[in-house]
Amino acid sequence: MNEGIQMLDLKGQYDKIKDEIDIRIQEVIDSARFIKGPIVAEFESDLSQYLGGTHIISCGSGTDALQIALMALDLKCGDHVIIPAFNYISTIEVIVLLGLVPILVDVDPDTYNISISEIDRSITEKTKAIVPVHLFGQAADMEAIMSIADQNDIYVIEDNAQSFGATYTSSNGLTSKTGTIGHIGCTSFFPTKTLGCYGDGGAVYTSDENFAARIKMIANHGQRIKYYHEIVGLNSRLDALQAAILTVKLRYLDYHSESRQLAASIYDKELEGIAEIGLPKRGDYGSHVFHQYTLRISNGLRGSLKGYLAERGIASMVYYPLPLYRQLAYTNYFPKHQLPVTEQLCSEVLSLPIYPELSKDTIQYICDCIRNFFANPNCC
Ligand SMILES: *Cc1c(COP(=O)(O)O)cnc(C)c1O
Repeated sequence: MNEGIQMLDLKGQYDKIKDEIDIRIQEVIDSARFIKGPIVAEFESDLSQYLGGTHIISCGSGTDALQIALMALDLKCGDHVIIPAFNYISTIEVIVLLGLVPILVDVDPDTYNISISEIDRSITEKTKAIVPVHLFGQAADMEAIMSIADQNDIYVIEDNAQSFGATYTSSNGLTSKTGTIGHIGCTSFFPTKTLGCYGDGGAVYTSDENFAARIKMIANHGQRIKYYHEIVGLNSRLDALQAAILTVKLRYLDYHSESRQLAASIYDKELEGIAEIGLPKRGDYGSHVFHQYTLRISNGLRGSLKGYLAERGIASMVYYPLPLYRQLAYTNYFPKHQLPVTEQLCSEVLSLPIYPELSKDTIQYICDCIRNFFANPNCC
């Protein structure tokens, strides 16, 4: 059966590493250590090494990671947290759940990441944190963000759920992994992410020892010693079976990123020169690991292109169709918001299939279809 070209091929990826994964899963089942235990410690240690030695606290999901990180800052009800308006939902969700005030700012039209000048304009004495989101696989401009944060005594929590494995190079030439530059980094191991498990999972990381101790307590019911609860916490753990899968997949992470980068460069070359298409731009710092390959389609043609591709068995997705301030759950917080770049991106963006196993021929086919569509966009 031909299922067409999906956004991802997780089954194809598993088939390639099945032997290694199955052995580690069986080990966990044989050990009957399903919660915490040695495999979770092993994964946290591997991850710490990969990130250059930060403290790692694994947890139940990327959304939990963001909530735990914000709780660790011990902010007061009503404190302001700045986030990009063109974004996944988790960030605003946890801000509102904790009684904090989300301040939505516009993004950069080239990198789709939070705009530095818009952050600057939004800072008041109530601002206590910024949560830059490294969107689609590319870092936000962390050096500029850290500089604003330092000047104003504000915390920075990096939402690295989409860019795990990407790097950021600052003007002094120092290269760091995304998520390790701010005070606290958060990531998700949701199956579709760059480092994905086979269920839910996440991690919080920091090089600050005090934050690390607090985060560890918060993720474990606010306790350091069992049954002695010092602060309000929650129950958020990475499953041992997921940790087993992640120890294997971490070893493939950079290879998978390189495979997606190669796919992105083929897309770039094949789609160059089509007037209605804006190719994804790279910032002049760091790497882009292409969690998504996201085009901008102008002249209102996105919907018909998406339909045209679907008829030819090619999936495509709109990340994201609505600015956060137009999501029904949050419109009452932002009655007058209208941020021009965010608005435009929401009406133009279209993400194409991208995954390590995507073949050159398949990319060629997708690009041929796109070129055919633009050769005669009104035919269908
Ligand atoms: C996926 C994602 C999250 C949430 O991760 P979950 O593990 O699904 O909770 C948070 N932020 C961004 C930017 C994401 O893409």
